[in-house]
Amino acid sequence: MAGEEIKFQAEVGKILDIVINSLYSNKEIFLRELISNAADACDKLRYLALTAPELAEGGGDFKIEISTDKKAKTITIADNGIGMNRDDLVANLGTIARSGTSEFLESLSGDARKDANLIGQFGVGFYACFSVADHVDVISRKAGDDVAWHWSSEGKGAFTIEEAARASQGTTIIVHLAKDQSEYLEDARIRHIVQQYSDHISIPIMLADQQLNKGSALWTRTPKEVTAEQYQEFYRHVGHAFDTPWLTMHNKAEGKVEYTNLLFVPSMRPFDLMNQERKHSVKLYVKRVFITDDCEDLMPRWLRFVRGVVDSQDLPLNVSREVLQHNVIVGRIKSALVKRIFGELKKKAEKAPDEFATFWDNFGAVVKEGLYEDQDYRDDILSIARFKSTAGDGTVSLADYVGRMKDGQDDIFFITGEDETALKASPQLEGFRARGIEVLLLTDPIDEFWIPMVGKFQDKPLRSVTAGGFDLSKVAQEAKADDTPQAEKADEGAVAKLILAFKDALSEAVRDVRATDRLTESAVCLIAGEGDMDLHLERMLRRQGHMKVPSAARILEINPAHPVIKALAAMTDDLVKKPVLADMAHLLLDQARIIEGEALADPIGFSARLNAALTRSLTA
Ligand code: ADP
Repeated sequence: MAGEEIKFQAEVGKILDIVINSLYSNKEIFLRELISNAADACDKLRYLALTAPELAEGGGDFKIEISTDKKAKTITIADNGIGMNRDDLVANLGTIARSGTSEFLESLSGDARKDANLIGQFGVGFYACFSVADHVDVISRKAGDDVAWHWSSEGKGAFTIEEAARASQGTTIIVHLAKDQSEYLEDARIRHIVQQYSDHISIPIMLADQQLNKGSALWTRTPKEVTAEQYQEFYRHVGHAFDTPWLTMHNKAEGKVEYTNLLFVPSMRPFDLMNQERKHSVKLYVKRVFITDDCEDLMPRWLRFVRGVVDSQDLPLNVSREVLQHNVIVGRIKSALVKRIFGELKKKAEKAPDEFATFWDNFGAVVKEGLYEDQDYRDDILSIARFKSTAGDGTVSLADYVGRMKDGQDDIFFITGEDETALKASPQLEGFRARGIEVLLLTDPIDEFWIPMVGKFQDKPLRSVTAGGFDLSKVAQEAKADDTPQAEKADEGAVAKLILAFKDALSEAVRDVRATDRLTESAVCLIAGEGDMDLHLERMLRRQGHMKVPSAARILEINPAHPVIKALAAMTDDLVKKPVLADMAHLLLDQARIIEGEALADPIGFSARLNAALTRSLTA
C-alpha cells in the first residue's frame, strides 16, 4: 500500500482489538455511527457557510449518500459536509480525544464478552466499521481546501495516508466488507437499519435515488409523532450515549422566548461526568441550523449530565460565539430550561421515589455543585437533595429530616467522610444514637464545600458532629432496649482535675480537653474547634496535595462515664501517679487519632507508653 504509514495511538489499538475480535452482536450499528458523523459534518459546514457561503460547494444542499458495489463487496457512505484535512484525519481517525478514554480503558477486564458490552456503552464511533470490514478507505476534502486525502487501514495497528482527489468538499467512507458480512450489500437491509437508527437525522439520507429518512429534525415534530425508539436513537446520536434516557423532555415554548427543547437525562453515569472541564452537553440550534455545542451560558455546569438540543427562534442565524456570551435571550432560555428540569425532577421525586433515588445516586454529586456555585437555585436543589442517614438504609430529604427532629434538637446534624460504613462506626455518633438523633452521612467530596456556603435549611443550622458548638444534653437519652441503666459518670470535681492534668500533659498537642455527652461507648474522641477546619476536610485536602494544609490542634473530648476515664479521675489526687496520668493522656489522644484514621505523630513514643501500661497491668 502506498502512502505514509502512521501507527494508531495505543488506546485506539486496544479499542480496535475489541471491536474486531469481540463485537459480535449488533454490528449493524456501524452504519448508524458513520451516518451520525456525516450528519454532524454537514451541520458544521452549514454553520460556517452562514458567514462564508463559498465554503459549501453544493450550494448548501446537504446530503448523505449510501451506495453499494456487490462485486467489490463495498458499502460507501459519502457526505458533502465539512471534510477533513491531513491533520484532521490523523487526529480524528488515529487517536481518541474523548475525555474519559483512559478511565474507560482501565475499567476493561480483558473478559471479551463483558468488554464488548462496555465498549458499546462507551461508544466507538467511526471505529465500529471495523466490526464488519477487513479494510476501510476514507477520502476526504476539507471545505476551502484544494487537495483531498486518502486514509486507509485494516484496523490492525496502523493506517496509511496520502494525497488524493475528490470532486468537492466532504468525506467518502468505503467499507470493504469482510467475507461473512454481505448482508450490508442488500438495499432492504440498509433501508431497515437507517429507518431504525437514523430516521431522526435532519439531512436526507439517500440510497440510489431514494430518500430513506423523513429528513425533518426530530425536535420539530410534535411529541405525538415521535416513538420512544426514535427518541432513544436521537438521544444516542446527539448525546454520544449508549444507554436509554431516564427522562425525556420535549417541549415547545412560546411567548417571551420562543424555542424548542429536546433534552434527556441519562440512566447511566457518562464516563466523562467528573472531568475537570465540566462542560455541559446541550447543543444550540437557531431555526434548525446547528450553531454550537459550546454555548457555556445555555446550561449550568452542575446539570452537565443533561443531553440534547435547544432550537431558538429568537437568536439571529449569524450569531457569533462572542455574541452568545452573556446574551439576554440565552439567559432567558437557560432559566426556563432549568425551571423545567426541576419541575420534572420534583415530579419524579414525589411520584417515583425509587427511580429518583437511582437518578440521585448517579448525578446527585454533580447537582450539589450547584449549591456551592449557584445561589439562584439553592432552594430548588435543597428540595430534591437526598442523603444517607443513620436512620436506615434508604435516603432522606432535608424536609423529612426536619420533620422527625427530636424534642430539644435545634440542628441538622451530619458527618462527612469517605464511606458510609466507616462513618457509621464513628465514635462521635454514639451520643446521637443513644438519643435517637438522626445524623446525615455525607460521602461526596463536594459536601465539604456546599455546607459552609448554605449554612442552614428552614432556619435549622447544619452542624458537623465532629465539630463543637452544640449541646446534646437538651435531648433525653432513649431507654436502652435491655433495660440496663445508663453508666454513671465520674464525679464532676474529679473530672475537672483530670482535665487539668491532661491539658498540662498534652499542652500544644491539643487545643482543649473537655468532657462530652457525645460519647457512650468510647473513652475519647477528637473534634474540631469552632471555626477550625472539619477533620475529614483537612484530611481530604492534605491527601489531594494541592494545598498546604496546616493541621489545626484538635479538641480532645473525654467520656466521664467510661471505665478508663473514671479510673483515671479517681487517681488525680495521688501525686505519685502524675507521670502515669501524663502517659495515659498521650495514649488516649493517640487512640482518638487512630480511630479518626489519622497518622500518629510519634509512633515510637506511642509504643513505649503502651508497653509501659501493659507491663503495669500484667505485673500488678
Ligand atoms: P465521535 O463522533 O464520537 O467524536 P468518531 O470516532 O466517530 O468519534 O469520530 C471522530 C471524529 O472524526 C469526529 O469527531 C469528527 O471530527 C471526525 N469525523 C468522523 N467522520 C467524519 C466525517 N464524515 N466528516 C468529517 N469529520 C468526520
